[in-house]
Amino acid sequence: MWVGGEEQAGKAGATVVRNPASEEVLAEVAGASPEQVDLAVDAARLAAHAWRRTPAGERGELLHGVSGWLRDHVEELARLLTLEGGKPLVENRDEVGWTANAFSYYAELGRNERGRVIPSVGDGQLSLVLKEPIGVVAAIVPWNYPLLLAAWKLAPALAAGDTVVVKPSPYTPLSTLAMADAFAAFPAGVVNVVTGGAEVGEALVVHAGTDLVAFTGSVATGQRIGALCAERVKRTHLELGGKDAFIVCDDVDLDVAVPGAAWAAYLNAGQVCTSAERFYVLEPVFDEFVDRLVEETGKLRLGDPLADTTDVGPMVAEAQRARVERQLELARAGGARVLTGGDRGGFEHGWYLSPAVVVDVDDAMDLMSIETFGPVAPVLRVGSLDEAISRANALPYGLGANVYTSRLDYVLRCMEELEAGTVWFNDPLTDNDAGPFGGMKMSGNARELGPEGLESFRETKHVHLDARANRKPWWYPYGPGGYQG
Ligand code: NAD
Repeated sequence: MWVGGEEQAGKAGATVVRNPASEEVLAEVAGASPEQVDLAVDAARLAAHAWRRTPAGERGELLHGVSGWLRDHVEELARLLTLEGGKPLVENRDEVGWTANAFSYYAELGRNERGRVIPSVGDGQLSLVLKEPIGVVAAIVPWNYPLLLAAWKLAPALAAGDTVVVKPSPYTPLSTLAMADAFAAFPAGVVNVVTGGAEVGEALVVHAGTDLVAFTGSVATGQRIGALCAERVKRTHLELGGKDAFIVCDDVDLDVAVPGAAWAAYLNAGQVCTSAERFYVLEPVFDEFVDRLVEETGKLRLGDPLADTTDVGPMVAEAQRARVERQLELARAGGARVLTGGDRGGFEHGWYLSPAVVVDVDDAMDLMSIETFGPVAPVLRVGSLDEAISRANALPYGLGANVYTSRLDYVLRCMEELEAGTVWFNDPLTDNDAGPFGGMKMSGNARELGPEGLESFRETKHVHLDARANRKPWWYPYGPGGYQG
């Protein structure tokens, strides 16, 4: 671990980290003991005083340093991410690049402004809205994009003047521990990394020394964290799961929409929080869309994520694959047809699941209503755009939504009516450092990236100043004979 500027071995039980492609043991990573969680939070608190006073420009230079360090270590970090997480190497190189971008973006945004001047109530007064650091941030991160999702919290938090304790997922701690070196130039305690599972996460959540819990993960864990924080009136920043809809309109060019759909469904073996998990395809193009998606899916190369020629790697863990297989089994039992994929691709080792296209699905199936987080594209025929929008909005999740169309009237309707934090038209899953990312409804209560992502890590103070310091006529005593000024 990395606590108070020093490497430290965890003193609690070890978690075995396995390579999802081979099931081989990569490392045993000891978790933080309760005392070590205290030490990490104490280190962050101790560092907070000086860090909040460090000029924003200096903080920005340090963040640019992190970005540079990441760009110098793309290959080794991407390889580590691939070994522990199973994403294809090419996707992990992208992840490291995007991680670097997040640090350089907030390096600049953090020194751009620190609030605003508002009109005063009276003459001779100055009224300010000051943006201040919140204090110590507990950043709890999942395994699907370990570095990127840590960066979407670390970069704005550090830019805002907060100090941070990061906890990676027990499936993928190695890359985050490797990234700790990027912070070597920071004052001790500003960034800390502790390892462990739910118990370490929860210790950070309830710790009196943490001021904000920034969490990305499942809805269930988010609900638990939200409840614990509500009791303590502690701030939360929750980025949770979804069940993103993908609408294919009747005017589309299927040469583009079909490969776009395949990518949106199977990227990172469908383990993206914004993976397309429900396809609503308008009647006139349904049959051809399905035929061509089956063909496209059949062409994808499932295999060793380190190989250049692999499109889809294994899932991260056996338990994750078992969950997806169960959803497929229940859907089949309910009358769904799996037109391609959904098996283990002939692999004896590794948690592989071949990308699947499923039809004859209905709303009652878990596959259409509960997050799948696997390489499955269930496709439903819809009679109109109205029906597609109303089905898309029917679930209590609202992370992202995709639409394929070139019709302006369709675009405007979907843009206004879809209940999702991001709506992508004709270019699925593209994030933008300057554009806020997060969920509506049960998919979360905050936004990462953009100025909104910085705002999430800042406290607000209103300052009202009267330069004249005179006695005010509206004070006591009231009524006749009162103060005349
Ligand atoms: P998870 O909720 O199981 O775990 C996430 C993190 O929380 C891990 O570090 C875990 O150790 C920790 N944790 C678990 N229980 C905890 C507790 N009681 N208190 C504190 N910490 C605890 O999620 P996961 O399986 O690692 O990740 C997959 C989920 O993350 C999916 O639901 C996916 O949609 C979601 N996700 C959301 C976004 C987003 O930005 N909205 C991005 C990526 C992933």
